Amino acid sequence: MPRFFDCHVHTCDLSYCCDDGITVSTYAEAVRRSDEVDGVAITNHGFAIYFPPDLAWSWRYMARPEIWDEHREWGNRRLAAHLAEVEEARDQGLCTGIEVELMCDGRLTLDDRFRDRLSVVIGSVHVLPEQFGDQELPPEALLEAWWQHTAQLAAAGIDLLGHPFRWIAGRKGVHLDDEWVRRVVLLAKQQGIGLEINSHQVVDNDVALLRLCVEQGVPLAFGTDAHRREEILDFSYHKALLTRAGMTVDELTLWRPSGC
Ligand SMILES: [Zn+2]
Ligand SMILES: [Zn+2]
Repeated sequence: MPRFFDCHVHTCDLSYCCDDGITVSTYAEAVRRSDEVDGVAITNHGFAIYFPPDLAWSWRYMARPEIWDEHREWGNRRLAAHLAEVEEARDQGLCTGIEVELMCDGRLTLDDRFRDRLSVVIGSVHVLPEQFGDQELPPEALLEAWWQHTAQLAAAGIDLLGHPFRWIAGRKGVHLDDEWVRRVVLLAKQQGIGLEINSHQVVDNDVALLRLCVEQGVPLAFGTDAHRREEILDFSYHKALLTRAGMTVDELTLWRPSGC
């Protein structure tokens, strides 16, 4: 029986898009009951840790990082309290983490002083900073902007690139062929980071991502990105993907944080 590690989940207190009632102890209880998952990294959104909801969803901080500086201490207090809670549950299979964006000045939405307390830092693209232009750009220009931003994010000190294709795959008129998957896999290899297979919103390129990561020796992280109760520790998508790719879990280098 394979044992999985969930590199990416959310709790309702520090992720505004997560269902009410999902807490750190929800995951501790789920791990206790699971016979295939032995660990979880709690990776709440940097934007929800550092900003109140209206500001978070405006994404204004992406192009104006001084807004993040103004909220840094407020967010740091929230993050410190959260990390203490997760650290308390370490012997129950829980690890610390965060999911962050890259602002236009090249900084992540995370105070460096917390880096050593985080078992995983996931960098994800949820939106592009305004200076890359708006989402009405033609597909080729959008792809180029997304690629530039992704390459900067991969080099910014993250451990994993979260849902690497979600944002770009959802843009109108964009066709993401396997050559783009190869570019992202080679980028991860060059930067020494892992790539995530994420089941919260799936993309068509996951079979290619799986195969190319194995071919290139890039670690794969399996994440549920759980925001809903039914997603908690549900690895059915990942297992079905392996079947579609004609592979077994033993052929993969599955990423997990050291010490977790
Ligand atoms: Zn995300
Ligand atoms: Zn997430």
